[in-house]
Amino acid sequence: MVDMYKPINQLCEEVFQIAKSKGWHDEPRETGTLLALIHSEVSEVLEADRKGDQENFEEELADVCIRIFDLCGSKDIDLEDAIYTKMERNKGRSYKHGSKAY
Ligand SMILES: [Mg+2]
Repeated sequence: MVDMYKPINQLCEEVFQIAKSKGWHDEPRETGTLLALIHSEVSEVLEADRKGDQENFEEELADVCIRIFDLCGSKDIDLEDAIYTKMERNKGRSYKHGSKAY
């Protein structure tokens, strides 16, 4: 556990810089590839849940966030603004909007 928390956009930049320093951005990466990598981490979370492995579940959730932060850092996306904007939009939606089962 760390004792200092940073703004999300700072994490995006730091995650991107770390990935860059490890050679993962030597060539421009396609958005589809980065999304597929996020998806692969979501699958790892699912597997951890299926195994009842809470420690790995949390670690893989962190990987999902790290992959999202990497995408945002590499594409210069203001994730904080996107999140707050979407949260405000969600607040205005009706109860169980969309007439979906879940
Ligand atoms: Mg993982």
